[in-house]
Amino acid sequence: MKALVIEKKNLLNIKKKWSPKETLSLRDNIILPEIAENEALVKIKSAGLNFNTVWSSIAYPVDPFALLNGHVRRNPNDKKHLRDYFIPGSDGSGEIVKIKKNKNFKEGDEVVIHCAVIADKDLKMKDPMLSKTQSVWGYETNFGSFAEYSIVKISQLIPKPKNLPWNISGSYMLTLGTAYRMLASVNGLDLKRNDTCFIWGASGGLGIFAIQICNYLGVKPICFVSNNDKKEFCKKFGAKYIISLSEMENKKFFLKNGEFNTKFWSEISTSIYSLIGTNKVDAVFEHPGADTLALSIFLLRRGGKVVTCAATSGYKAKIDLRYLWMELKQIIGSHFCNSTEANIASDLVAKGHVKHTPSKIIELEDIPENLNNIFQRKTFGKIAVDLNKN
Ligand code: NAP
Repeated sequence: MKALVIEKKNLLNIKKKWSPKETLSLRDNIILPEIAENEALVKIKSAGLNFNTVWSSIAYPVDPFALLNGHVRRNPNDKKHLRDYFIPGSDGSGEIVKIKKNKNFKEGDEVVIHCAVIADKDLKMKDPMLSKTQSVWGYETNFGSFAEYSIVKISQLIPKPKNLPWNISGSYMLTLGTAYRMLASVNGLDLKRNDTCFIWGASGGLGIFAIQICNYLGVKPICFVSNNDKKEFCKKFGAKYIISLSEMENKKFFLKNGEFNTKFWSEISTSIYSLIGTNKVDAVFEHPGADTLALSIFLLRRGGKVVTCAATSGYKAKIDLRYLWMELKQIIGSHFCNSTEANIASDLVAKGHVKHTPSKIIELEDIPENLNNIFQRKTFGKIAVDLNKN
C-alpha cells in the first residue's frame, strides 16, 4: 500500500537545522503485518495534521524510532511496530475492513479513530490514561493514518458522526479530545458556567476547540493570538474576547537578559481587564510552554489553575514560584484523553455543539509542505487530509 513514511536511514543523515519536508517521503510498497485479536484493519478515508508529526519528522525532542522502542518495552506484544520505517498520523477516519468478532464493531462500519493506545488489561481503570502501557497512535506506535490502511486497537474506535463528510471526519479527534479533557473533565480543569479561562494559541488546532468547548460550558474564553488574521479566524469559532500580540505595545515575553518582561505581563493583565472587567482569570489553557508558563501562573486569580499539555516553545520552563504557592494556585498536567472522554467529545461534534470546519483540505502528497507551515506558525485551525480517492 501507499504511505507517507519516515525512513530510519533518513534520520541518520539529518542536518542541524532541518524541516519536516526533509524526512517524510512517499512509499508505495508497504506490506502491513497481520492484525491481532484486539485490533482492526481500517481503510483510511481521511486524516488530520497534528503538531506531533512535526515533532516526529524533526526527531525532536525524541527520535520516532526511540519512541517505538519505548512503546514495545511497555507493550512486549507489539513487536511488529518495530520496522525500518515509521508511518505517522494520529487522527483518522475510515471503514473497518478486517476485525475479529466483536460486540461493538464489525467489518464495513464507518469509524473515527482516537489516538489513545492502551493495553486491554487496563481499559477498565478509572482513568485508563494513567496506564503505563499508554501510547499515542501514529506518534509512539507505527501504522498511523498517513496511509491507505492502518492497524489500530479496537478500543480506539468511535462511530463516525453522520453529519460529517468523509473528507473532514478524520481531523478533529486529537485536538478536540485533548481540549475536552483539559477544560471540561474532572481529570482537567472541570470548568463550570461563568468561569473565565485564558486560551493561548486560540487560532490553532487546540485553540479553536477550546473556544467552542468553553462557550458550550458557559465559560468565558479570553483568547490570545499573534496577529489580526488569527484574531478574525477565532471569531468564526465564537471568540469574543481576543488579545492580539500585534496590537500590544510590549511584544516580548522575556527581556534580553533572560528575565521576565513584567511590563508585557502587566499589559496583558490590563487588556484582560478592559475585556472582561477583571484582570485575573480562573483558569489558563496552556501549551506554548517555556515562553508562557510563568505568565500563565501570574494571570490566575488566587486558587486558580493552569492546565498544560505541551511545550511548543520549549519544555524547560522558568517560573516564579512565589505566584504559585502564595496565591494557592495549581498546575495540572494533561495528555490526550481516555475513550470515555473521546466519545463525549466526539458526540459534541455529532450533535452540532462544536463545529469542525478545517481551514484546508489537502492530499497525502501535500502533508510535508503543510507540516512545515504548522512549524512556522503560518496555519489556521485544523488541516484535513482527503484519502478517499486512494
Ligand atoms: P497549532 O495548530 O500549531 O497551534 C499552536 C498555536 O500556538 C499556534 O497557532 C500559535 O499561535 C501558538 N503558539 C506557538 N508558539 C507560541 C508561543 N511561543 N507563544 C504563544 N503562542 C504560541 O498546534 P496545536 O495542535 O494547537 O498544538 C499545540 C501544541 O500542543 C503542540 O506542541 C502539540 O504537539 C501539543 N499537543 C499536545 C497534545 C497532548 O495530548 N499532550 C495534544 C494536542 C497537541 P499564534 O501564532 O497565534 O501565537
